[in-house]
Amino acid sequence: MCPVSHGLLDVQYAWDKLPVPSSLREFEQRWGSRREPLDFSGVWRFRELLPFAPPEQIVTIGEGQTILQQSDHVGRYVGVNDGCLHLQYEGLNPSGSFKDNGMTAASTHARMVGAKLAACASTGNTSASLAIYAGVSQQFRCIVFVGSGKIAYGKLSQALDYGATTLQIEGDFDDALMQVRAVCEQAGIYLCNSVNPFRLEGQKTIMYRVLEGLGWEVPDWIVVPGGNLGNSSAFGKAFLELKHLGLIDRLPRLAVINAAGANTLYELYEQQGLRWNDGHPEQSLIDTFYADMQAKNRRANTLASAIEINRPVNLTKCLRALDACDGVVREVSDEEILDGKAQVGAGGFGCEPASGASVAGAKLLRQQGVIAPSDRVVCILTGHQLKDPTATVNYHTQGGCRAANAPIVVPNDFEQIMEIIRQFG
Ligand SMILES: *Cc1c(COP(=O)(O)O)cnc(C)c1O
Repeated sequence: MCPVSHGLLDVQYAWDKLPVPSSLREFEQRWGSRREPLDFSGVWRFRELLPFAPPEQIVTIGEGQTILQQSDHVGRYVGVNDGCLHLQYEGLNPSGSFKDNGMTAASTHARMVGAKLAACASTGNTSASLAIYAGVSQQFRCIVFVGSGKIAYGKLSQALDYGATTLQIEGDFDDALMQVRAVCEQAGIYLCNSVNPFRLEGQKTIMYRVLEGLGWEVPDWIVVPGGNLGNSSAFGKAFLELKHLGLIDRLPRLAVINAAGANTLYELYEQQGLRWNDGHPEQSLIDTFYADMQAKNRRANTLASAIEINRPVNLTKCLRALDACDGVVREVSDEEILDGKAQVGAGGFGCEPASGASVAGAKLLRQQGVIAPSDRVVCILTGHQLKDPTATVNYHTQGGCRAANAPIVVPNDFEQIMEIIRQFG
């Protein structure tokens, strides 16, 4: 384990002493032995690329059975050529978000160190994921810290249903995270937020599956919503390692998309020029930004609750990923996010609001000419459509939304119903 910067740790491997396949295609052969739990898992199928766990300790529930869909419908909305846009549906994981990729790894590590109690702060999906793994592991129990008011009901219902002890803090996510970090340190509880470097090891596999879905070809762009920046950090690490191992010959570009109401990364990276700078990002820029935020009591505010975060814990790791992948950061409005989400819903399996940021961000980058019409783009859809039905129903029923699809109210009368049906004749 190696320090990255600012208290963040990184899992580093002595690759030259480890068995690594000579080609990524070798991982595909594991589809043939899917009855083996480790080969069935879309995370542990790639275990040689996250070789920190003895196989018998691995906690897996078949996570990572996700789909890469070519979507010309969304592609046209974004403005790229047919065949160029792909959606990676991480909402198809057991708890309905990409978090399971990381939580299987963190749970495995928790088991390796004999943890009896694990905890996390969450905008909803991390708690749902930890709760499901704690439940099935029968190794440890969990306590989840959530903020008040904003958590989507789909997510809260999961934590409660899966039996997690749930602490609802009178504050927002940033407050909940600050508290859980202090509590875990004091009480010796295993911390499962994405400061936990093992989570990021699991999340690397999202990129392996994207490559697999593209026949092991590297796309031009990976577009991902940015909250605590664990995903973007993990993606950068995944590609750096694959390049180091000679398993890919180039890195894709990375676009991290903030909600305009929670745009710390956008402000620091694009407006103030904060960079990785060979592992020495200018800390004073970060400190000044947060001090100003504190002074103005500025709170994150977006309907995309999964990315409603003002103090992203993986900020500096994300800078490393942006540096490696010639990255860009953009901010998009809630309206753009929900419009993007509606396009995904109309052309595929749907997603939760935060995931719509990647489609909105790709569209913006295309408009700005940063993404070319012929570029191959993969938008990561981080959470399931059913996570936040309130946001979805509000979008479709309150007038004026771009792709609104409101229910048609009709009297309980055959003739009047038929009159409407005929219009669709
Ligand atoms: C956690 C989460 C995010 C943010 O991911 P980070 O790794 O924290 O940047 C985005 N979308 C959904 C649905 C999430 O659950």
